[in-house]
This record gives sequence, structure tokens and C-alpha cells, in this order.
Amino acid sequence: DLHPVRRALISVSDKTGLVDLGKALEGRGVEILSTGGSAKALRDAGVAVKDVSEVTKFPEMMDGRVKTLHPMVHGGLLALRDNDDHIAAMEEHGIGGIDLLVVNLYPFEAALARGADYDEMIENIDIGGPAMIRAAAKNHGFVTTIVDVEDYDALLAELDANDGQTSHAFRQRHAQIAYARTGAYDAAVSGWMAEAIGEANPRRRVVAGALKQTMRYGENPHQDAAFYVDGSEREGVATAEVHQGKALSYNNINDTDAAFELVSEFRPEDGPAVAIIKHANPSGVARGDSLLDAYQKAFDCDRTSAFGGIVALNQPLDADTAKAITEIFTEVVIAPGASDEAKEIFAAKKNLRLLTTGGLPDNRAGGQTIRQVAGGYLFQNKDNGFIGMDDLRVVTEKAPTDAQMEDLLFAWKVAKHVKSNAIVYVKDKATVGVGAGQMSRLDSALIAAAKAQRMADQIGLDQSPAIGSAVASDAFFPFPDGLLEAAQAGATCVIQPGGSMRDDEVIAAANEAGLAMVFTGMRHFRH
Ligand code: 5GP
Repeated sequence: DLHPVRRALISVSDKTGLVDLGKALEGRGVEILSTGGSAKALRDAGVAVKDVSEVTKFPEMMDGRVKTLHPMVHGGLLALRDNDDHIAAMEEHGIGGIDLLVVNLYPFEAALARGADYDEMIENIDIGGPAMIRAAAKNHGFVTTIVDVEDYDALLAELDANDGQTSHAFRQRHAQIAYARTGAYDAAVSGWMAEAIGEANPRRRVVAGALKQTMRYGENPHQDAAFYVDGSEREGVATAEVHQGKALSYNNINDTDAAFELVSEFRPEDGPAVAIIKHANPSGVARGDSLLDAYQKAFDCDRTSAFGGIVALNQPLDADTAKAITEIFTEVVIAPGASDEAKEIFAAKKNLRLLTTGGLPDNRAGGQTIRQVAGGYLFQNKDNGFIGMDDLRVVTEKAPTDAQMEDLLFAWKVAKHVKSNAIVYVKDKATVGVGAGQMSRLDSALIAAAKAQRMADQIGLDQSPAIGSAVASDAFFPFPDGLLEAAQAGATCVIQPGGSMRDDEVIAAANEAGLAMVFTGMRHFRH
């Protein structure tokens, strides 16, 4: 799969490193073709080059709009070197193969950044460059494509390592990079034009991905919306099979994603788990002896909020659980699968959507998250942080019992999926109070405790289920107050990252309240 580089075409707007590259290629016996400005720069530096216009027998014309758009160039880039017909066509038309393409594009993005006017932007749209890049990258079985000055050294290293040849893996990797470049380039052009003409409809705006669905509206009825999929194979709302019900709304998709990502923290081999989500936060999460048991416990945590919720299961939906779910209004159920019986039970509920994913996503796999801010994007790696028993540090006089430890780890997994500030009370592997999205940790603790009290009223317990509970905090307690509130609500053990300036005060307060507390050393903010 090694292919020799005998003939190269160099056409670059950014001339950085051009002369060194030209000399290095010449020194390795490579024949160099080049376009106007690039050829001149090389020639001025004493590198032997042949003008593309000499090969095409056409001058560069129309202000450079047409330079390399010619069969002598594109035939040389696209011909399959192991195909007799292609070889015959090359011979018949005198087309020489091009083994290496080095192109960087007209600086459209730089023109955009300096606020160039419309006509200047238009002139900065490269046509021949992307055409050649796409052709060469398609033919990566034989042709090497370099689109980034930063990759010149890697190219030369590859040639030296392979006696003037490139490997298939190298050509393939750089073909992928090449398409990323032309894709981003056209996205920049379309994005600029959308701004220029005031295109506000997101369905007509480019994002990296394929349009899967347009919705009646977005988060609110006056917002247009569309759903794009990025082609990754992660099990979830983007790849699930939809069995019934009307199309998912924008908010449904957002919440279904939150639900399934949360329940995927609980591996199926550890037993059934269910999460019920409202507005991207869990109203209840539970493990159980059966799926039905887990569903009922999750439902009981907050029966009021569960109404109109999204239910995610870590195991295939069975008939018993399906029946229980249909007893209240539920928007969406997402599960790795569903039994025929369960599907039949759902069929009577026309508006209930059932999605099956075929499995659970790997909650430790990497990935990226993107969020838009005015004028840009925030890009970060996914929060796939994981805490094992070895990472935990007991900081109080009391250590948690095994049962407490189980609830603490359960609470910690849930807290990761609750909007900050997150406080989660857990008893017997079920949430009994969730405080989400408050501006102070103390408020989240108070809300979670109040919800636990309401749960007692709703399901007829004689005391708050927060009494004797485990509590998780997604980030450290900055002051003892939040922790003391949890103690007062009845929590007996705490899991939190630690790392506050006042950890000593917080630990002392925990000891005084008779709590067992462990530090994770890792926080899970989620905004
Ligand atoms: P040079 O400075 O060598 O004259 O031009 C290099 C630039 O021209 C590169 O950015 C390359 O992508 C671009 N280019 C090469 N062929 C064509 C073409 O046929 N049409 C247009 N518009 N640009 C081209």
C-alpha cells in the first residue's frame, strides 16, 4: 500500500514554509507543478517548477478564478493507477499522474475576520482549491493530500521513512483532514452568507451534521428548530428506532437525551434502573429488584413532577412496567429494547412515544459537547469522569457502612446529571429528594429536603425519607450551611468532591453532626 511521490502539485495562498517544502521535495527528486504566485515564490528561491498553465495549455484567467480547473489536472489527481481504462485514458490524452497535492485555500476566514465587504468576500471563495482537494482526497488510494502548513514536516518524515513513498494509512488520514477542511470552508461561506442575507431559519443554517428532522417549533412556539445528527454511533435519541407516537419535539429530544444518558450510568448487569426526567433534570431515579420496582420507586420520589415526564430504562421494557407507565401521562419512553407485549400495551396510547436503542451507550467513552454563546461556541470534552471505590477518601470520624456507601455512589451518579447546584438525597438506591439548578447550594439542599417531605405526604410515609438518607453534592460545600441543612433533613452520610478553602470547617461540622463523609476529588458541574 506504499505509493511513490514522483509528481506534486503545489498551490498555496499561505506561502509559509513553501520554499522549504519545495526544496525538500526537489531534493527527493519530486517534479513540482505550481500555480502563479506559488510558482513564482518557488522559482525566486531557486526551486525548479513547472507552471500548471504549461500543463493545461491554458493561461490562468479571470483573475485566477480559473487556474487548475482542467482535465490535465483533475485527470492526474483522479486516475486510478491500477485501472487499465484509466491508464489508457491518461496515455491517450497525455495526462501525467499527480501523486501529491499541497493546497491551502484562499483565506476566506481571514477576510471574514477583518470584516471585508461583500465583493471581497466573494473573491475570497476558493473554487479550484477545494475541487482539487476533494479530488485528491477521494483518490487517496494513490494520492497524498496536504492542506495544512503544519503537516509539511509530517509529510517529509513519511517520505523519509518509506523511501520516497507514502503509506495508505497516511494518505487516508490526510484525506480525512482534507475533507474536514473543505467542509469547514464551505460551512464558513454559508455561515457568512446566512448572516449577510439575514437567514434566521436554523433549518437553513449549516452545522456539522446531517439534518434528521425539522420540528414544528423549538424550545418555544415562536422559535424554528431542526435536529442534526453527527453520525456517531452512540446509542441514544439520535440513533434510536421510534416505534410509535407523533414526532419528537425539540424539548422531548433534549430531555430524552438527558434521561438516557443518566440511566446509562447504571449498567444492566448491576440490575434494573429507571430515570424519569423533566426539563433535563431527574424527578426521580431508582434501582430496583425488577424494572417495575425501579419505575415505581423513581415515580414515588416526585409523583407530581413525573407527570408528562420522559422515562429512561437501562433494560428492555417489559409488559408490567409498560402497564405501570401508561397509568400516568408520559411523553417518551426510551429503553435498550421492548418486548412485543410491552409494545402492544403502548399501542393503545397513541401519543406516547417509544424509542429503542439496541443497547446502552458507554458512559466512560469520550466525546465532545458544544454550546453556543453569542458570537461563538464553547467546546469541551464530555464529562465522562468516573469515581471508583479507590478514589474515595473518608474524611470524618465515622466511615460509611457498606449500605451507606452503595447509596452514596448511587447519589453521586445521579448528581452528575442534575443541573448545578445539585443536591441529591438517596435512600435504598432510590432518590428521595432532588434539588437542582439553584444559585446557591444551600437553596438546593432546602429544596431537596422539602421535596423529600412532600414525597412522605404523597405516598403516606410517617416521616421524611431524607431521614437516614445519603446525600450527594455535585461540587464542594463552600460553607458548612448546606451540609448542616442536609444533616437537619436527616441525612447520615455525605459524598462531595471536597477541595473548599473551608474543608476543615465543613469536616468539623460533619463530625459534630455525626455524619460520615467521603470526598471524591472530582466534581460534576452541569450547567
Ligand atoms: P497562487 O498564489 O499559487 O497563484 O494561488 C494559490 C491559490 O489558488 C490556492 O489557495 C488555491 O487553492 C487556489 N486555486 C488553485 N486553482 C484554482 C482555480 O482554478 N480557481 C480558484 N478560484 N482558485 C484556485
